[in-house]
Amino acid sequence: MTNLSAFKAFLSSPRKVIIVTHYKPDADALGSSLGLFHYLRQCGHHAQVITPSDYPAFLNWMPGNETVWIDEPVNRDRIDAAFAQAEIIFCLDFSALNRINNLGEKVKQSKAKKVLIDHHLEPEHFADFEQWDVNSASTAGLVYEMIVELGDRKKITADAANCLYAGLMTDTGGFRHSNTRREEFMIASDLVSLGADPSRVAKLIYDTNTLERLRLMGYVLTEKLVVLPEYRTAYMTLSNEELKRFGSQTGDTEGFVNYGLSIKDIRLSVMIYERADEIKLSFRSIGNFSVNDLARKHFDGGGHKNAAGGSSKTSLEATVKKFLDLLPDYQASLLTDN
Ligand code: 5GP
Ligand code: MN
Repeated sequence: MTNLSAFKAFLSSPRKVIIVTHYKPDADALGSSLGLFHYLRQCGHHAQVITPSDYPAFLNWMPGNETVWIDEPVNRDRIDAAFAQAEIIFCLDFSALNRINNLGEKVKQSKAKKVLIDHHLEPEHFADFEQWDVNSASTAGLVYEMIVELGDRKKITADAANCLYAGLMTDTGGFRHSNTRREEFMIASDLVSLGADPSRVAKLIYDTNTLERLRLMGYVLTEKLVVLPEYRTAYMTLSNEELKRFGSQTGDTEGFVNYGLSIKDIRLSVMIYERADEIKLSFRSIGNFSVNDLARKHFDGGGHKNAAGGSSKTSLEATVKKFLDLLPDYQASLLTDN
């Protein structure tokens, strides 16, 4: 943490805290936010988690989920009141204010102290305190490290440990991705000592599919997955009509992109699908090919070297064409083995 002693001093008396995380929160976004929430409450602060949008139902088991406010019309008044009173705002698992939609302007204009806890590349430096480390696999791990740095390891309750463990487990792809260092296992081990239950968390996150989601996955893999061996690339698309046909809910497409990357010799996998008012792209790669660069340069996005996302305001067809037209420029680096 930058400025650790000033940060510690600021938190030495009870504060009104807001915790925000990115649009369509995943398990690391929500798990790190609720893990921090439990810790701050344990310290006597008043904390409120606010998300810019809804999130997948497979995250609803997280302790504290029922206290989260989603930035929707029904919550606007109390969100505005919370921002008016906030003394400190934690921004978790994102580092560009446009990732939190309308909440970005509220964070920018607030007089509260701001804290960035994140592991994405090329952050905007808007915060007074930063716990930022691109080498860390998860924001949940950074929250754990911050609490330990503050000398408060013992204030991590079993509820907090389970939330943090969920973020660590998913952002490492179940401790399989190249971001899984010795540190991730050390943190996981300590979270288990503090009460996290690995098999329960894994079951709650990975094995609570709806039948609709499983059928959608079957359809995507059978009908929609395209492999381009000449680019060592796999991609799949889903239109609004298809998502509706399968009764898809928020989060149902999460993880599909990884199946493309599971094919032998594939180095780049992309999932392109329609959302309410935009086209969303999810990128994954293996080795030195940077999907952060690709997403940042062409699709108004970013993320990590091997996992990134972006969006497009054109049609699904036009977005797919744009992506395919880019491939020749990247062919050489996609075919280089590293
Ligand atoms: P996913 O493909 O799972 O949605 O996202 C992969 C990674 O890229 C995550 O770390 C996520 O935070 C980041 N990401 C996804 N979409 C965007 C985007 O539109 N802009 C930026 N800057 N990052 C994104
Ligand atoms: Mn993350």
